[in-house]
Amino acid sequence: MKAAVVIGRRRFEIREIPTPQAQPGQVVLKVRLCAICGTDLEFVDNLRLDDKKEKIEAVLGHEWVGEVVDVGRGVTGWSVGDRAVDFRASCGQCYWCRHGLRHLCVGALGDSTEFEGGIRTSMSGAMAEYIVRTPQGMKSIMKVADSVSDEEAALTEPLNVALAPVYEVPIKPGNAVVIIGAGHIGQLSLLAVKAAGAGPVIVTDKIKSRLDKARELGADFALNADEGDITKRIMEITKVGADAVIICARGADILQQSLKAARRQGTIVIIGFLKPAMIDPMYILNNNLRIIGCEPFLRYNMQALQLMEHKKVDCRPLISEIMPLADVKKAFDSLYTGQNSLVMLKP
Ligand SMILES: [Zn+2]
Ligand SMILES: [Zn+2]
Repeated sequence: MKAAVVIGRRRFEIREIPTPQAQPGQVVLKVRLCAICGTDLEFVDNLRLDDKKEKIEAVLGHEWVGEVVDVGRGVTGWSVGDRAVDFRASCGQCYWCRHGLRHLCVGALGDSTEFEGGIRTSMSGAMAEYIVRTPQGMKSIMKVADSVSDEEAALTEPLNVALAPVYEVPIKPGNAVVIIGAGHIGQLSLLAVKAAGAGPVIVTDKIKSRLDKARELGADFALNADEGDITKRIMEITKVGADAVIICARGADILQQSLKAARRQGTIVIIGFLKPAMIDPMYILNNNLRIIGCEPFLRYNMQALQLMEHKKVDCRPLISEIMPLADVKKAFDSLYTGQNSLVMLKP
């Protein structure tokens, strides 16, 4: 089968690698679509990839939907033709599983990510024609309803990330929410908090096209972070500050800024990969703020699929282009230049 192998910084090779066969307990899925995540962009842009000491070959891709094409012996409940996305597997035995926090399980890997010296080395990502999963075991999957399109299903994992603050803050109808950063996680966060009844929802970014998209998707306010005093604007709109500030951006100064956008006793949620930052602990103390990290590890995949199945969230307007797998370099480059905002690859 063909796979898009990362071979250096912003370099790929479309390579012929062995097509997987379903071993007992496994299924093989044909990848129908795989979206390019911000973390993929960051991985491929890593300068260290061109450092000879850390030579790398990896197949990325974790935002995917596939169709079962081969069912191994002993697999029950799965047939050829079923569509699926990843679902976090758990061991049932570790501390986290026994406390009902199976998404934090340390006894079973729910995805195909492997790390070596801080660099992902897995060759089993979904930027390839086929992918293998063990539905009852270490690498689990869940079915996709017929009414959910491939385009939507491929965004199940990022929508699950966007839903984490809704469940974990929690965000309630009428809450004022600020979303910092309108990349694809920021835009999905907008859809997620709107589905939860939040309002006003204020999105900030520095890129005009992203702000336009946020307005199109229902943001009550889309503010350019480079124009004027953004904290003042947020205060004018919310009167007392936001109930929740969701950080979907990376800048080192964002965390400190976001403290000022929250109301007293408000919650600041980190879902983006923020750079290390200096913050003022006294401000947090005096304002009774709460800062939480939300990495759901596929915890809300089921809810994400349910929202799409019942048409409560429509992620399709986020997709700017679907490109053939062979054009993987072009696809990544179009994201680095900002020509595209969300690209899916079709093997
Ligand atoms: Zn992702
Ligand atoms: Zn466990």
